[in-house]
Amino acid sequence: MHVYFDHNATTAPDERVLEAMLPFLKGEYGNASSRHEFGTRARKAVSRAREQVARLVNVQGSQVVFVSGGTEANNLFIKGAAAYLKSTQVVVSGVEHPCVAKPAQDLARQGWKLRKIAVRPNGLVDLADVDAALTDPTGLVSVMLANNETGVIQPVAEIAAKARAKRAWMHTDAVQALGKIPVDFEALGVHAMTISAHKIYGPKGAGALVVDKRLELKPIIHGGGHEMGLRSGTENVPAIVGFGSACELAAERMDKISRKLQELRERTDQGVSALGAVIFGQGAPRIPNTTYFAAPNIDGETLVIELDKAGFAVASGAACSSTSTEPSATLLAMGVAPELARGAVRVSFGVHNTAAQVEDFLQALSAVLKRLRRLTAIAV
Ligand code: PLP
Repeated sequence: MHVYFDHNATTAPDERVLEAMLPFLKGEYGNASSRHEFGTRARKAVSRAREQVARLVNVQGSQVVFVSGGTEANNLFIKGAAAYLKSTQVVVSGVEHPCVAKPAQDLARQGWKLRKIAVRPNGLVDLADVDAALTDPTGLVSVMLANNETGVIQPVAEIAAKARAKRAWMHTDAVQALGKIPVDFEALGVHAMTISAHKIYGPKGAGALVVDKRLELKPIIHGGGHEMGLRSGTENVPAIVGFGSACELAAERMDKISRKLQELRERTDQGVSALGAVIFGQGAPRIPNTTYFAAPNIDGETLVIELDKAGFAVASGAACSSTSTEPSATLLAMGVAPELARGAVRVSFGVHNTAAQVEDFLQALSAVLKRLRRLTAIAV
C-alpha cells in the first residue's frame, strides 16, 4: 500500500465533501442562473457555499468570488487590478508560486516595473527590502501567506500595513495556509486573497479570490456576468458546494489536526536531520504539515523515485512545476547552493497520516540513502 505524503500538491476529497457534492452531480443539475426551480436550488447551494467559505476566512459572502482554483484567482488579482491602474510598480516576493510570478512578469512586459523582494536564508521575506521596494510608487503587492515548498509563513499583516501606507493594493496567496493555520482576511489587512478547494480536502476545479469591496478589478474572463461580473461562466456547482463543505470541515477540525500534523512533522525533522539531511526553512514559522529537506550529494528526483518504489509518495522541488529539472527557484532565492537545491524533497502530511507511517518512512529513507550514497561513492 502506498503512503501519501504529498498533501501540498493535492488532498483526497473528504467523504463528507463527496456526500455534499453528489446530489449536484446527479439530480440537482440545474444552472445557477436559471429562474426555474432547478436553477433556484443550484443558486441556493452556491449561496450557502459562499457563506461557508466566507466564514472560514472572516469576511462577508459578497466578498467571495468563485473561480476555478488558486491559479485563476492569482491571475485575476494581478491582471484584473492592474487593468485599473497606471503602470507603476508591481512588488512580489522572490518565492511566489509561478501563478503569481508569471502574471507579474507579464505586467513587466507591458511596461510595469517588477520588483522582487529578497528572502532571508530561512525563507522569510526581508522586511527592510519591502520598505526599500515601496519607496517607488507601487500599484500592487503580492506576498504569499505560506510557501508551498518550505511551508514558511510570511509576515503578511506587517507587509500589508506597509503596502497600505503607500496606497498600494495588497494581495496574499493563502492557498497553502488555509486549513492549516488560522487565515483571517480582516486581521491580515489585505485587499485580496487567493484560496483553493483541492488543498483542503475539497475537489479540484474550485477556488476563490476573496476581495475587499473597495478593490477595483476588471474581469479576465468575459461573458454572462456571473460572480458579480468578475468571473463569467456557468458556475461549477458541485465543486463550489464541495469547496463550501471543505471550508466548514476545516473550521471544525483545524486545531485538532494541526496539532497532530505538527507532531508528525517534528518527528520527521528530527529523523531526517539524524540521517544527515539539511532542512530548509527550519527556525522560521512554518505551516505544521510540511518538511522540506535535502541530503547532500543525493539527487532529489532520484530520491523521490526510490521512495516511491519503497511505497511513499513525496515530492521533489515544487510539484506544481514537476516537468522542470531546474533547481527550485524558492531555494535559490533563499541562497541555497544549486547542488544542494537539486536534492530537495518535500514531505507534506495530511489528516490521515500516522506516527507509524512516519517511522516506516524514516526507515525506508535511511535504507535508500545508504544505497544511493554507496552508488555515489562508487561513481566518484
Ligand atoms: N498557490 C500556491 C501557493 C500553490 O501551492 C498552488 C498549487 O499548488 C496554487 C497557488 C495553485 O492552485 P490551484 O492548483 O488551485 O490552481
